[in-house]
Amino acid sequence: MSDSIYLDFAAATPVDPRVFDAMEPYYRNKFYNPSALYRAAHAVRADYEAARSELAGWFGAKPSSIVLTSGATESNNLAVHGVMQSFAGRRIAVGAIEHASIVQAAEQHLHDFIDANSHGRITPEALKKTVHNDTVLVSIGAVNSELGTVQQMRQLASVVREINTERVSSGNNLPLYFHTDATGAANYSDLQVSRLGVDLLTLGSSKIYGPPRAGLLYVKTGTKLQPLTHGGGQESGLRSGTENVAGVVGFAKALTYARQEKEDRLSTVSHLRLRFTEKLNKALGADCTTVPTRFCAPHIAHFHFNGIDAETLVYLLDERGVMVATGAACAANKDTASHVLKAIGLSPEAIQGSIRCSFSHTQTVEQMDRAAHIFTECVQKLREGR
Ligand code: PLP
Repeated sequence: MSDSIYLDFAAATPVDPRVFDAMEPYYRNKFYNPSALYRAAHAVRADYEAARSELAGWFGAKPSSIVLTSGATESNNLAVHGVMQSFAGRRIAVGAIEHASIVQAAEQHLHDFIDANSHGRITPEALKKTVHNDTVLVSIGAVNSELGTVQQMRQLASVVREINTERVSSGNNLPLYFHTDATGAANYSDLQVSRLGVDLLTLGSSKIYGPPRAGLLYVKTGTKLQPLTHGGGQESGLRSGTENVAGVVGFAKALTYARQEKEDRLSTVSHLRLRFTEKLNKALGADCTTVPTRFCAPHIAHFHFNGIDAETLVYLLDERGVMVATGAACAANKDTASHVLKAIGLSPEAIQGSIRCSFSHTQTVEQMDRAAHIFTECVQKLREGR
């Protein structure tokens, strides 16, 4: 379907052709294992390390602080289990609206969920209230991929800092680390780890026009972390396994383009999102966006339509060439209601009628208008059929 309209960029982005070109040699003539001793392999190692440095630069981090992984799921698991295994029997606190790779990893340990408000925001008060004296890790995603909510990372980090200061003065020698899953934030938000005030940060390549199956975990020097995979000792022993050189080279290029072109991409995608949401609001009722624009990521819009079954709507839209999601990306089997939508207090009816649209700077106004028109017709059809 050449004139179909894809509105699911928060689930997967196409690989930027420039990124694809940069990766290709590592599948052909530069395929060597970077750990091998011959010179050709040394050159591949050098390229791999250059990509690590390039990535680190966008976080204001040292290259040695970057652990390269197979993606955001692995990075989140490494952050959660890696820290919690270093502090057996201690607690972890995670946002109630976190991605499944955080929630389910946290559930393997003594855990607490931090409440989110009706817009999906986690307040400093909610964080403070949830942390116990023996909590060693807090994990809050910078941008919620289902709702688009952007968290106030610096305010949350300052709560963590205050707790650490209080612990030192009261003789509690447990650290409280702060992890963020920044997967949804990589295109448009601040990524400087010193400004964000985080000890650990996850990023995946597949949402930034890079290849799938590449990701990283930033680990601040001194953070205690146990490896989850054992073997050849790659990634300073934190992540054994032969390096995905092509993936990492592509990931670095994708992040560099995203950051260099951030302002242009941001203004284009914000305009497209606004155009689409205004048209939909006008045609279908003013209250269909869940998160106010001022703290919503510029590429995500979440809608709920009472009385409509979102899955039926997705199929109907698909028949008309419009691709959207009912919830968060990358959950293969979702036969249960979204934990995110439950956590922000949406009614079961609103949850059942929830749709997420996500946009790209590569799209056009014409596509937005056409998608909004088709969307309106489909919702009206379902409403009439009730
Ligand atoms: N974290 C967030 C916020 C996501 O949106 C996703 C996937 O959509 C992931 C983690 C997992 O990413 P992956 O499946 O690439 O490991």
